[in-house]
Amino acid sequence: ASAHIGVTGLAVMGRNLARNFARHGHTVAVHNRTAARTRSLVEEYGGEGTFVPAERPEDFVGSLERPRRLVVMVKAGRPTDAVIEEFAPLLEPGDMIIDGGNAHFQDTRRREASLRERGVHFVGTGISGGEEGALHGPSIMPGGSAESYESLGPLLEDISAKAQDGSPCCTHIGPDGAGHFVKMVHNGIEYADMQLIAEAYDLLRHVAGFEPARIAETFRTWNTGRLDSYLIEITAEVLAHTDAATGLPFVDVVADRAEQKGTGRWTVQTALDLGVPVSGIAEAVFARSVSGHADLREAARTLPGPERRPMSEQGAEAFAHHVEHALYASKVVSYAQGWNMVSAAGEEYGWEIDLGSIAAIWRGGCIIRAAFLDRIRAAYAADPGLPTLLADKEFAAEVGEAQDAWRAVVSTAVAHGVPTPGFAAALTYYDALRAERLPAALTQGQRDFFGAHTYRRTDREGSFHTLWGGDRTERPAD
Ligand code: NDP
Repeated sequence: ASAHIGVTGLAVMGRNLARNFARHGHTVAVHNRTAARTRSLVEEYGGEGTFVPAERPEDFVGSLERPRRLVVMVKAGRPTDAVIEEFAPLLEPGDMIIDGGNAHFQDTRRREASLRERGVHFVGTGISGGEEGALHGPSIMPGGSAESYESLGPLLEDISAKAQDGSPCCTHIGPDGAGHFVKMVHNGIEYADMQLIAEAYDLLRHVAGFEPARIAETFRTWNTGRLDSYLIEITAEVLAHTDAATGLPFVDVVADRAEQKGTGRWTVQTALDLGVPVSGIAEAVFARSVSGHADLREAARTLPGPERRPMSEQGAEAFAHHVEHALYASKVVSYAQGWNMVSAAGEEYGWEIDLGSIAAIWRGGCIIRAAFLDRIRAAYAADPGLPTLLADKEFAAEVGEAQDAWRAVVSTAVAHGVPTPGFAAALTYYDALRAERLPAALTQGQRDFFGAHTYRRTDREGSFHTLWGGDRTERPAD
């Protein structure tokens, strides 16, 4: 019994995580349902560190030092339950099962509660960064008990990405499903970020009239400023790429139907349940969905749109500058919405999540890694009770400064018939939060009229109902 940690499930993610542990000097027990994967891992990468391969679950578990730390990297869903059922009877109180798959946080809560009864710690852990991240340093979001983190944290921090200041991109997020919840919101924000970038591209292409190579250059320039991020960087790479078969820009030969694996949808479904507006993420999920509806798009292809007038070179340059502002302001809004969601879940489930620390561990390793996240970390460090990122002095000033350009971009997009659901939803959210009075007052009047749902008044406490069908006098309702 000598391995520090074990990994079962040795497809790309599990194999790379196991190698990452081994490369950091940890002895790693490795196991996979199909033993050929275990053998090939040791054959190909055995020289990178110390692996203890096992074919039988008993041998695998038996090779782990106590308390046992067993990482499960199998297909999310039923396979995870199957693996838990297989291994849990072999474990002892105090041992840990770490689920690094993309589990739904409610499944994680259920599994944690059930294993807790047996004294086994179940640590639902979000892992971001894809296969490269798993090997070279992912961003890691472990949930589960604080006690489990004491023993597990140092190992996970060891293999995690490091932020520019050297701190590990791994922290204990909170109990039970908190880690998987935060990973889900990470993916939701990733959807929103990608959608906003796609809209910026579409505007530069079809309103400013730039070719993909020039747009790649524009993104490269943006990447030296406040938008500096992994996603902007790879966007420039994709746009600069030429298709070998046709000689055309790569982006022009790819079918324009965006696919999804479902974490964005989970984020929006959960946000609806929590009652948190995440319009940026929702629009991003819907935009992918619209793109995939070939039937609807075909049926609507001949509908009329506005005439598009080409822009002058000077006008196009100025417009591109405005698009940078719109992209940045919209990005601030979608992050603000994502953080609100984490905060609401923290309250709902009693997780006590440190909101700043989430920004800190997303600075490296994950898909949305960006210089920008250090500013979010700083905003929550300055005021842990910040109700929204938009209330932070610096973000408020920047978004305020961007708003004229932001409005100009959205209205130009509308005038040119270029869809910008992300930009428009973000701006609408900003204006809704700012509004002195919202038409929700009228909505309440309508609800009271048709369903006697009652309303509150601006000048008095209590609930009221107007006798709409009678003499229209008002009655207190409670
Ligand atoms: P897959 O999701 O493709 O899963 C394959 C692995 O699951 C294999 O080891 C397979 O074993 C095992 N497995 C499937 N069903 C069972 C079962 N019933 N019992 C035991 N083992 C089973 O692998 P990935 O490496 O892509 O992902 C692993 C997990 O990590 C997933 O939950 C995924 O969502 C998550 N993840 C993936 C990322 C990525 O970029 N790919 C990023 C972050 C998280 P066998 O070889 O015997 O078939």
